[in-house]
Amino acid sequence: MSRPQQITVLGATGSIGLSTLDVISRHPERYRVFALSGFTRLAELEALCLLYRPRYAVVPDAEAVRHLQGGLQAAGLTTRVLVGEAGLCEVAAHPEVDAVMAAIVGAAGLKPTLAAVEAGKKVLLANKEALVMSGALFMQAVRKSGAVLLPIDSEHNAIFQCLPTDYARGLGAVGVRRILLTASGGPFRETPLAELEQVSPEQACAHPNWSMGRKISVDSASMMNKGLELIEACWLFDAKPAQVEVVIHPQSVIHSLVDYVDGSVLAQLGNPDMRTPISHALAWPERIDSGVAPLDLFSVARLDFLPPDELRFPCLRLARQAAECGGTAPAMLNAANEVAVAAFLGRRIRFPEIASIIDAVLNFEPAVAVESLDVVLAADSRARALAEQWLNRHGR
Ligand code: NDP
Ligand code: MG
Repeated sequence: MSRPQQITVLGATGSIGLSTLDVISRHPERYRVFALSGFTRLAELEALCLLYRPRYAVVPDAEAVRHLQGGLQAAGLTTRVLVGEAGLCEVAAHPEVDAVMAAIVGAAGLKPTLAAVEAGKKVLLANKEALVMSGALFMQAVRKSGAVLLPIDSEHNAIFQCLPTDYARGLGAVGVRRILLTASGGPFRETPLAELEQVSPEQACAHPNWSMGRKISVDSASMMNKGLELIEACWLFDAKPAQVEVVIHPQSVIHSLVDYVDGSVLAQLGNPDMRTPISHALAWPERIDSGVAPLDLFSVARLDFLPPDELRFPCLRLARQAAECGGTAPAMLNAANEVAVAAFLGRRIRFPEIASIIDAVLNFEPAVAVESLDVVLAADSRARALAEQWLNRHGR
């Protein structure tokens, strides 16, 4: 067998990062950890470094560099500790790296993920916000560098598995009528609307089927996650927003479907465990063991499907509007959402106000065409500033 592939895990201390390391641990002959990054959970990062002995680790500031470098040297490790966004970009684009798991949450992952793309790596994309913000530029960079972009988001990974290998010829050309994007509906699918005013961050983060980081858990509760995924699907598969239909499927067993013109509908099923899409993407086009239990259809017993209620989930409508508008609208939607989710987690606003903030920002600032990354970053900053203004006026 050929030498082990060198893997950089951006966001190693998070939910996706840890699941990735779990899969890597099962296949030491295939994968070696090249670099790991953390942000606030630095004790966890140190423990991961001791376990995986990466060539590089990346932390947010000089103080954290000193601390981690000292701890690792004392343990006899030669891991080099790099700092900040420049460090993340360096380990994403390093010539010896074969694949990069992009699992930083939010806009903070954009530049490192793009660095991996521009270096022509195999890029395992969990950081959907990066693609939502900069879709056109991101996909152009993929085509230019020849990077292999593999979706980790379970729905997009499912769609990828249900499409023919030549889907880049265009969905119409390969006979696809629609993409059916499934959603669990999150913890508030049946909560009486009036009670949404009172729900807590803890309730929002208690997802019925998936265990995830706090930001994406809140996004799932508001269904902004599905909105971001709709935009993500449009870029990954060159689909129009109208070709992507959201289907609520509370069991989270079908991870998405592709509807073909001949009436065939292909679906990918599995237990809700991110190690399945991670293993799929890591090994693609081969298959490896992920540690996920086999699907027991008899215990699943039934699969339900419902249309989404846009009154209950206004974020889904806002995301679809941003997708249709194009230009900087998705970047602004994403930035306003990041500020709003942080404010909700910090108990500065009520849950329904997440949508109010995003709506206000999108109404205030017209979208413009995206010609460069600077335009995207300026839209991101502007939307954050507008969302903060809203919070200063209405937040607690
Ligand atoms: P977590 O919050 O669990 O992890 C986020 C990771 O990013 C952590 O390693 C964190 O470091 C790091 N991080 C946070 N902020 C910064 C920053 N400003 N700069 C550098 N690093 C930072 O999130 P998840 O693992 O749940 O999600 C990661 C991404 O994957 C998100 O984009 C999410 O939408 C996507 N995704 C996640 C799924 C899931 O099941 N969890 C499913 C599908 C997509 P630290 O912890 O040390 O602070
Ligand atoms: Mg998903």
